[in-house]
Amino acid sequence: MKTFLAVIALAVLVWVLPIYWQKWRRSYLRARPLSPSQYRLVQSALPFYSALAPEAQRELCANLSLFLHDKEFVGCDGLRVTDEMRVCVAAWACLLLTGRQNRCYPALRTVLLYPDTYIARETHFEGAIEMTADSAREGESHYLGPVVLSWADIEEDLFHPEQGRNVIVHEFAHKLDEEDGVYDGRPLFTDSESGGSWAPVFREEFERLRDKVLTRQEGHGTKGGSTPAREAKASVLDPYGAQSPAEFFAVASESFFSIPVALRQHHAALYAELRAFYHLDPASWHDGSQQGNQYPR
Ligand SMILES: [Zn+2]
Repeated sequence: MKTFLAVIALAVLVWVLPIYWQKWRRSYLRARPLSPSQYRLVQSALPFYSALAPEAQRELCANLSLFLHDKEFVGCDGLRVTDEMRVCVAAWACLLLTGRQNRCYPALRTVLLYPDTYIARETHFEGAIEMTADSAREGESHYLGPVVLSWADIEEDLFHPEQGRNVIVHEFAHKLDEEDGVYDGRPLFTDSESGGSWAPVFREEFERLRDKVLTRQEGHGTKGGSTPAREAKASVLDPYGAQSPAEFFAVASESFFSIPVALRQHHAALYAELRAFYHLDPASWHDGSQQGNQYPR
């Protein structure tokens, strides 16, 4: 009997100890302060940092410390990953978590950084025929796997926030979307009362964007005067979001954090849903004028 109880106790210990170890490690890493140079890099990467509430700043820095110790950064195509790159990616990734109960992307182990837009091979089937094609990418998020980013595109987005693009926010919004097991544009809400109006608002906004993109495609070449690139820059929401509900959520998150005042003005209901989900109000961090060229090159 004693041996039996000892075996049970050992089995419980083997099961429980790793859980407590992970919890202790997370709190230990979260409590480690950033170095003064890392802190300066955070302020440079997030020009609105000083406008965040003190508790939001504390939560952001705690997650940053955990992220920087917990995730591996790998330079690809000869890129040497610097402290500036690591802190910049981590700062924007952790900004998405600042108002939410979170475990700092527990399924993410690796961030791959390319110096510039990179080429990825895609395979798809047309009927029974397997087709492969190369496509240029700024970033991608693999389900329960790594995030891949192009540093040149990150810099371009941060240097021109007025364009409403941010590839880091885009890929890490996909990471939040995968938390319930599926990329469907409806991420996991941290409390059960929230998210009731999410589906109708997102469905309507997604369909509006898709109709707009389809109308442009049909009209392109007949009316003249505008190109898709120019139209894309003029839009509050990147037309790429019309691809699927998952891409729409990622694109809407980019606008929410990059051009929040414009998003609130033109898509008030969408802005309200994102504010409720992220528990953040980025429009309040700005004085109403969306300044470009804030990120030092
Ligand atoms: Zn995407």
